[in-house]
Amino acid sequence: MFRISLALISLLLWSLSSSAADKNNIAIVIHGGAGNIKAAQLSPEQEAAYKKKLQEARDKGYAILAKGGTSMDAVVAAITILEDSPLFNAGKGAVYNFDGQHDLDASIMEGKNLQAGAIAGVQTVKNPILLARAVMEKSEHVFLAGRGAETFAKQQQLALVENRYFNTEKRFKSLQKAKQSLLKTSWNQTDKDLEIDYKMGTVGAVALDQHGNIAAGTSTGGRTAKRYGRIGDSPVIGAGTWADNRSCGVSATGHGEFFIRFNVAADICARVKYRGLSIQTAADQVINQELANIQGSGGVIVLDKQGNIAYSFNTKGMYRAYKNNKNSHVAIY
Ligand code: ASP
Repeated sequence: MFRISLALISLLLWSLSSSAADKNNIAIVIHGGAGNIKAAQLSPEQEAAYKKKLQEARDKGYAILAKGGTSMDAVVAAITILEDSPLFNAGKGAVYNFDGQHDLDASIMEGKNLQAGAIAGVQTVKNPILLARAVMEKSEHVFLAGRGAETFAKQQQLALVENRYFNTEKRFKSLQKAKQSLLKTSWNQTDKDLEIDYKMGTVGAVALDQHGNIAAGTSTGGRTAKRYGRIGDSPVIGAGTWADNRSCGVSATGHGEFFIRFNVAADICARVKYRGLSIQTAADQVINQELANIQGSGGVIVLDKQGNIAYSFNTKGMYRAYKNNKNSHVAIY
C-alpha cells in the first residue's frame, strides 16, 4: 500500500513538473543578415541552401531548449552553425577588410542578470561567439579587442585558425568590387551599388528557455573593405545585442554606424519596458521610423518573456527563421 501511494505521488509530481515545463513557451529566433536581397539575385538552389542552413541552426537551438537546456546554450549552438557556414558573413565566409584580411566581432548577453561578453577585431578565432561567451563567463570584463582578445582565446583553449581559413571566393570578389567603387565614388554610393554581397550575412539568435530566461547573441565579419580598425554595432552591447528578462532580447543586423548611434537593441527593449509596447510595435518604431528616417538600413529579431517573436526590417529582405512550441518559420524576403 505504502509503495503504491509513493509511486502515485511521484507520478503526480512528475506530471506537475512536466506540465509546468510545457507552459513555458520555449522559443528561438535567428537571422542571417538583412539587406536589399531581391528574389532575382538568388537562384532557387541558393535560396534552398540558405533556408536549409537557417533551419539546421534553428532546430539545433530548439532541440537544446526542448531538452531543458539553457537559452545561452541554444543561442551559442545556433550561431556556431551559422559561423561555420560559408554562406554567412560570420566566421567562415566573413567579409574581407580593406587590407584583404578578416576581422571578426561578436557579442552575447543573458537576460537573467544582464551579464554580457563581447569581442572585436579578432583574426584567428574560429568561432567568435565562443570567445564572447568566454569573456562573459571566464573573465571579469565585458569587451575585449584585438591582440588581447586573441591571447585570452588562447588561454581559454578555443580553436584557433590561420586568418586565411575565413577566405571565400565570393567575398573576395566583393572586396575587389568595393575597392573599385570606392576609388570612384563615396561610401554611400558604394553601399547602394553593392549591397547584395557586399556586407550581408551577419548572424544572430535570441532564445527563451524553460526557466524563463532570455539570451541573445550576434556575430559578424562587419563590412567589406572596412578600414582603420572600424567596428560596427554587432559586438556593441545595447546596439547590436541586448537581453533583459524584464523586457526582451534582440539581435540586430544592418548599417552598424546607425545602429550604434541609435542604440537600437536596447532602445527597442526600453520601449517595451517603460512604455509597455509590444515587441513588434517597439521594433517597428525603431527600425521603420527612427532608422528609416535617416536611411539607416537593417533589421532585428526580437523575443519576449512570453515567447512572442517579432521581426522588423526596412530592407527588402532578411534571412530569418523561428521555432516555438506552436509554429516554425523560415523566410528571406
Ligand atoms: N551590423 C554589421 C556591421 O555594421 C553588418 C551587418 O549586419 O550587415 O558591422
